[in-house]
Amino acid sequence: MPAKLIKGDEVAESIRADLANELNNLYEKTGLIPGLAVVIVGENPASMTYVANKEKQSRKIGFYSQVRRLPEDISQDALLEVIAELNEDSKIHGFMVQLPLPDHIDERTVLQSIDPEKDIDGTHPVNMGKLFSNEKGFIACTANSIMHMIEHTRQPVYGKSAVLIGRSNIVGKPLALLLLRRNASVTICHSKSLDLSEICREADILVAAAGSAELVKGDWIKPGAIVIDVGVTQDGDRVLGDVEFEKAQQSAGWISPVPGGVGPITITMLMQNALEAFKQQIEA
Ligand code: NAP
Repeated sequence: MPAKLIKGDEVAESIRADLANELNNLYEKTGLIPGLAVVIVGENPASMTYVANKEKQSRKIGFYSQVRRLPEDISQDALLEVIAELNEDSKIHGFMVQLPLPDHIDERTVLQSIDPEKDIDGTHPVNMGKLFSNEKGFIACTANSIMHMIEHTRQPVYGKSAVLIGRSNIVGKPLALLLLRRNASVTICHSKSLDLSEICREADILVAAAGSAELVKGDWIKPGAIVIDVGVTQDGDRVLGDVEFEKAQQSAGWISPVPGGVGPITITMLMQNALEAFKQQIEA
């Protein structure tokens, strides 16, 4: 029997409905609207599409939404000034800087300049440290989305073997910690890993986030496994994931498509973090 599909929109929809309700209730109590901003530098087409979707969806739910569109040749100092303004802006409770940034800008310096209390993408070292030490903080939206997809299958995670392909700060590393919290046995693979196919064949949960089209072959999938495909590669008019979808679907128990898998949930996670930032700031 082919795998069941984990559809991002379905997972996101129920979370969005809860968010809209909570936003309304908070507005009735406080008369305040949570504000969310996204900073984008340059005109990378994929980033522009993500940012436009973030703006549209957050307004639809009821957030005050701002997008700071900055030129590709902006200096690092000028970008840091924009971030300092957002850190101080009382209408904005959370914001993120869309990656990638142009080469002349140091990503680490920029991400570290965001106030950790407004860091709704969970990329500041303070929030990453909180995740590491099991404290409450903002969690990187992509990793959090993947965890929601795994939970959506209602399959046990406890004691299962989870294999992650990719060790980035926004996917592999935070997801490994989230899965460890749930008592999975976690293996993180990367471009230097040997015997990737053999490691994948042991995975009850396989997350592919390499950005390498169809890297994971259908016969690498353990029968019944949960397969989350995070990779996005534009191939002419087509968008390909990291998994050979049709073949993998024959063995997997659950599989997420590309597009339509992780993508729609990450925006919802960003809004959830923004609402949490708002609640923390009005209570402070
Ligand atoms: P990244 O920072 O480039 O990291 C890619 C990771 O994959 C690295 O750890 C790299 O290993 C590893 N890798 C690359 N090729 C490999 C191979 N052939 N075998 C094993 N490992 C390999 O990328 P990212 O930001 O984490 O994103 C990963 C993918 O997810 C991209 O396609 C991105 O577009 C997509 N993405 C989608 C969403 C969404 O919302 N749908 C969100 C975020 C990212 P090394 O560390 O050794 O270099």
